[in-house]
Amino acid sequence: MDLTDFGAGAQYIAGRRSRGSGAPFQVVNPADGSVVEEFSLASTEQVDEAVAAGRAALPEWSGATPGARSEALTRLAAVLTDAAADLARVETAQTGKPIKLSTEFDVPGTVDNTAFFAGAARNLEGRAAGEYSGDHTSYVRREAIGVVGSISPWNYPLQMAAWKVLPAIAAGNTVVLKPAELTPLTSLMFARACTLAGIPDGVVNVVTGAGRDAGEHLVAHPDVAMVSFTGSTPVGRRVAELATATVKRTHLELGGKAPFVVFDDADLDAAVHGAVAASLINSGQDCTAATRAYVQRPLYDAFVAGVAELYAAIRLGDPLDPRTDLGPLVSFTHRDRVAGFVERARGYATVVTGGAAPAKGHDGTDLTRGAYYRPTLITGAAQDSEVVQGEIFGPILVVLPFDGDDEGLRLANDTPYGLAASAWTGNVHRSLRATRELAAGCVWVNDHIPIISEMPHGGYKSSGYGKDMSQYSLDEYTQVKHVMFDTTAVARKDWHRTVFGDR
Ligand code: NAD
Repeated sequence: MDLTDFGAGAQYIAGRRSRGSGAPFQVVNPADGSVVEEFSLASTEQVDEAVAAGRAALPEWSGATPGARSEALTRLAAVLTDAAADLARVETAQTGKPIKLSTEFDVPGTVDNTAFFAGAARNLEGRAAGEYSGDHTSYVRREAIGVVGSISPWNYPLQMAAWKVLPAIAAGNTVVLKPAELTPLTSLMFARACTLAGIPDGVVNVVTGAGRDAGEHLVAHPDVAMVSFTGSTPVGRRVAELATATVKRTHLELGGKAPFVVFDDADLDAAVHGAVAASLINSGQDCTAATRAYVQRPLYDAFVAGVAELYAAIRLGDPLDPRTDLGPLVSFTHRDRVAGFVERARGYATVVTGGAAPAKGHDGTDLTRGAYYRPTLITGAAQDSEVVQGEIFGPILVVLPFDGDDEGLRLANDTPYGLAASAWTGNVHRSLRATRELAAGCVWVNDHIPIISEMPHGGYKSSGYGKDMSQYSLDEYTQVKHVMFDTTAVARKDWHRTVFGDR
């Protein structure tokens, strides 16, 4: 099943691919600078068209039985499974992520999410029904909200498209998705797969456009009932501002700066390996990646030495090579931004290893045409410094020491972000305290990164609000209606006397 008919254009409206009528744009492979696809971006008129398609599809789709929606999602999981190899290849071409990550994480994660929401679609429920006043029967209906405008980032394009679209359509909404312009291809494949699975035209639409025009136009659109956004905190703020004018519901999954807290009784080997994997996954372009390791003083030196040794052994190379551990960053502009953080840090901290673009890969191939950057370990940075406080979104780990448990947990919580955190300890009391006190939407103990479809993902503090995945996300794409029936058939109700007459 071929989902890669990109020649027909990068817009997917009412079940058909079409060309954009906005500015020309190229999807570039960051591994070597080659052009993967060329197309035109969506104009604001095309955003209007996509929203109109979503509106037109709404009555049939929101009126379909949960069972029918569930069956469609089950078929979608099968279509995505058939297309797994193509999805992984295209995901790697547009992002530069290692093929082993696309194949073992992005695509199976998306299929599993689809299967989860196929089940969850049949499980929407109002929490209560009964005679609460004595004279009425009340019940709760959970209803679709309408056309959902979804905006996604470039780091996990396929999974982010799935996280936005699946709970929305499982609950009976229709969607206009605007993927990041750098990486629209697997979102277009996902939309095509929806059509092949028998999901009606107009239920899932994709507009590939720039954030400032197509994105803002979608957020402000009067016929869009809810905006679901995943991206950076500054853009999330702008989205929330724009949504205020039409009082839209917003769902904001924003940036992160996850702490990784290693207590002095931790298994050092597990913590070192965990930190390397959790800081370098997807080249560190992961909103939950470990970015700040706080290590209790007795383990500090050994931890730094252990991470530095493993960082030096990481295989950088062609992302299509199954041996490659670390591919390039998503773009040359982003690589330069990441390098800027490291260059400025040299003035106030120590770059222990990395801190440069590699010339050659693990097998001697030339990497100078790609947006590569070496795994970089930084020590000696102050808690209030830029590398500790700011979201770098690259293969960079900053390590800081701490003494008492109070200090470790305080420093871990001391950034504006609160998406994820981990605690490394064998002590049950320490781990329970850490899970209670770490201010983040996800806290791991003795691991850092795994996610599952059944559990919610979302932030605290400036990492946003709203949950992706799980039954919690399904609830967010519904609105709750209280229905109340009079059961007495009495014309003159007792409560009327509060407006006229006496008892
Ligand atoms: P970004 O905020 O620059 O862009 C995200 C999306 O918003 C893109 O589609 C972009 O075109 C669009 N956009 C940009 N300006 C806009 C505007 N003014 N109005 C409407 N839309 C606009 O983020 P990015 O660089 O693509 O992705 C990286 C960021 O995403 C990081 O901050 C990362 O932490 C975050 N992220 C968060 C989660 C999460 O679950 N919390 C998951 C993945 C990524």
